Amino acid sequence: MLRRDFLTAAAAAPLAYAAGAFVPAWAQNAPNLGTPTLPKPGFARTKVGDVEVIALIDGIARRPLGEEFVKNAPLAEVRALLASQGLATEYIDIPFTPFVVIAGGRKVLMDTGLGEWGGPTTGKLLEHMAAAGLQPTDIDTVLITHFHGDHINGLRNRAGQFVFSKAKVMVPAPEHAFWMDDARMAAAPEGMKGAFNNVRRTFAQMPADMLVRFEPGTEVLPGIRSIAAFGHTPGHTLFEAGPANNGFLFVGDLTNVPALFARNPDWAVTFDMDAEAARKVRRAVFERVVANKSLMGGFHFPFPAFGRMAAQGNGFAFQPAA
Ligand SMILES: [Zn+2]
Repeated sequence: MLRRDFLTAAAAAPLAYAAGAFVPAWAQNAPNLGTPTLPKPGFARTKVGDVEVIALIDGIARRPLGEEFVKNAPLAEVRALLASQGLATEYIDIPFTPFVVIAGGRKVLMDTGLGEWGGPTTGKLLEHMAAAGLQPTDIDTVLITHFHGDHINGLRNRAGQFVFSKAKVMVPAPEHAFWMDDARMAAAPEGMKGAFNNVRRTFAQMPADMLVRFEPGTEVLPGIRSIAAFGHTPGHTLFEAGPANNGFLFVGDLTNVPALFARNPDWAVTFDMDAEAARKVRRAVFERVVANKSLMGGFHFPFPAFGRMAAQGNGFAFQPAA
């Protein structure tokens, strides 16, 4: 479909898009494996210096564990590592946890969860924000780490409205350039076209005064810096609030579930687009986090999804904050 036609169709009939068209199968619960239990309450707060950090779980998806999940390790080894941590070996529970950071009088949302575009155990961000005393209109900035659906779909509801209507949406320029490139979309394998379309649905008609593209490595807001961590996607970016190396570091998808990919940073989750670049930056950032004893949050980390990282064996162990 030509881009012009797509835009026309999207404008005319946003409701015609089925949720499944934009949500990869892995974001849906697997049948017959039970239902993941969401933590209650669905938020947790902490402070680092003057920065307030609120983890808000959007949901959890239960995915059957097959050979494909870790691209470069035998399934038996993956299962053994899960079992050694008391975790199920037939499936993986993948949590989705956006954060709100309150710093310098601003309320900043980092990633958005699946919104109205995921399965029944996702899309709880707004409910958990309300429980924490936050309304969508309180958010003045949304920072996006990368353009996978679980990180951006909460920006717009099924009616096409912008959920955080007063917020600027700040995105890494190289990430935006990659996914909005029509030639790349045309050349992409069929299985990836949904992800390109999803980005277009979310961003193509975003008002120019709402969308801000920034260069990773720059300060995006007073006291909040962006850090390039390309690999998981071409423009994947981290955010650090507060003092450098001693604030709160949101690592997005630097790893998928840490029980596997922090413990074995060289393992590649099926979603890493450039596994070698992702592996290198994962090790480098975690080494720094351990050395600095930084408070860190991860989008796919177990609740409360913030804590510290410790060196362990050939990798790292996530220590959730009590
Ligand atoms: Zn993700």
